[in-house]
Amino acid sequence: MKLIVPDYYNDFCCIADRCKHSCCIGWEIDIDNETLERYRNIGGDFGVRLQDGIETDICGAHFRLGAQERCPFLNREGLCDIILTLGEAYLSQICTDHPRFCSFYSDRTEIGLGLCCEEATRIILFKETETKFSVLDDDGEEEIPTEEEKAFFAQRERLFTLAQDRRKTISERMNDLQREIGLVFPNRSFAEWVDIFLSLECMDDAWKTLLLESRKKSVYDVSSDIPEIIWGQLLVYFLYRHVSDPERDIGGSVLFAILGVYMIRNLFSYLCCREKANKKEELIEICRLYSSEIEYSEENTEQLILFLEKSSQKNERKDDFRYERND
Ligand code: SF4
Repeated sequence: MKLIVPDYYNDFCCIADRCKHSCCIGWEIDIDNETLERYRNIGGDFGVRLQDGIETDICGAHFRLGAQERCPFLNREGLCDIILTLGEAYLSQICTDHPRFCSFYSDRTEIGLGLCCEEATRIILFKETETKFSVLDDDGEEEIPTEEEKAFFAQRERLFTLAQDRRKTISERMNDLQREIGLVFPNRSFAEWVDIFLSLECMDDAWKTLLLESRKKSVYDVSSDIPEIIWGQLLVYFLYRHVSDPERDIGGSVLFAILGVYMIRNLFSYLCCREKANKKEELIEICRLYSSEIEYSEENTEQLILFLEKSSQKNERKDDFRYERND
């Protein structure tokens, strides 16, 4: 069994107290049974504090969030008291893994870094060279991929190549992806897409406000100071993360990857028109919001993929996908 990672994987290190949107705020943090058992065996004052900071319900154990939905072990300096007192080995699995995600196949597990973490986003977007995937670990067992998986990996490889063809613009690359899967991205204006996103479950008011405000604007300047390389990085990220089920037709997931770039690019353009801000940081924040609201909600992701599957057309006319610039 092999562990596959993108080549930026080892560059990640949590920035802890320098993080503007800590994952220790606003999320329910589960505690796996093994860690729970270890916490129950901690004595002294910290053991008492641990017990006080944990609650259990039918879904299992998790940390009892405090004011502003903060993890009770996130201290005022923005550091984790469990790490400071017991060491990193005492983190629950979810805390150790975040912001990593996994896709499982017969012969490999693929791991990536998720955009909902601002530091992961920084690394993914601003990497200048093409993303490559390599073996991080191999236990030496020769697992055999199924025929279905072999065909899936071959097609996904072609998608990565098309998405990273830097001789072409991002629009041309997204057209190439549609030709590869034989589907045309649904023809909707940006305002119509915003309405679809507004109909989904929303967790953070900042996301809703961004959608509503951007919808009012009628002209978008998608050409900006942000180089095309960055949109390509984003596209490869979405493909790696979401084109991950060999048993499912990949069309909807590829269109979902295109939709992610389309939405983030347009929302970013809106913010650039609106104010003179640090563009890099604005872009990171939009990616983080998009990821938290869409990718980290299975329901929202599935609804969008189903919508894309239902409303895309067969690419018989080889139509090109174009950005909608107005309502
Ligand atoms: S969101 Fe990322 S950088 Fe911020 S605290 Fe969590 S893992 Fe660290």
